[in-house]
Amino acid sequence: MKNNRGKLVVISGPSGVGKGTVIRRLLSESDKLALSVSATTRAPREEDTEGVTYYFKTVDEFKAMIESEKFLEWAVYNNNYYGTPVDAVEDLLDKGISVILEIEVQGAMNVKKKRPDGLFIFIAPPSFETLKQRLIGRGSESEEEINNRVSLAKAEFDMKDEYDYIVVNDNLDDAVKEVKDIIEGN
Ligand code: 5GP
Repeated sequence: MKNNRGKLVVISGPSGVGKGTVIRRLLSESDKLALSVSATTRAPREEDTEGVTYYFKTVDEFKAMIESEKFLEWAVYNNNYYGTPVDAVEDLLDKGISVILEIEVQGAMNVKKKRPDGLFIFIAPPSFETLKQRLIGRGSESEEEINNRVSLAKAEFDMKDEYDYIVVNDNLDDAVKEVKDIIEGN
């Protein structure tokens, strides 16, 4: 039975690198793959839907979830809490469905300690200038927020060697194929 479990796939990469787009493509191409829905205390953006993109929580609610060990991992990123609810992930893995965690690097490193059997993939931008332009193009963050995210991106990039694979998202189709091959080949 154990061999039929899904794979735990951790995907990190700086904000604006296009990991969400890569992941959406992967999900649309496989019914044996699911995305873990995280809890967060950050404010919803226009494109967010409760229970689909995130479970939106107050800081108190989030802290209570930490206390009652509801998370596989959690981290503070850009002054907000983010965490992966553990039960949903385990249920999917038990059903033979591989689960993608789209999480930042501190959380990913915590998962690595608990679950070294996971597959750790880092999606990198072709350059930091491209990344900044993509964040500006997205139009959902202020200039200050964008500068914060670029600084965070540089710090995240320094952690890339801790991952099993690094995929540069220069061309979307190529990046999707590369990640798909990694997941299917492992
Ligand atoms: P955003 O606010 O842009 O949706 O996400 C900010 C960062 O938090 C992204 O790098 C995203 O991958 C990460 N993130 C989302 N959910 C989780 C989570 O459950 N745990 C951790 N550690 N990071 C998360």
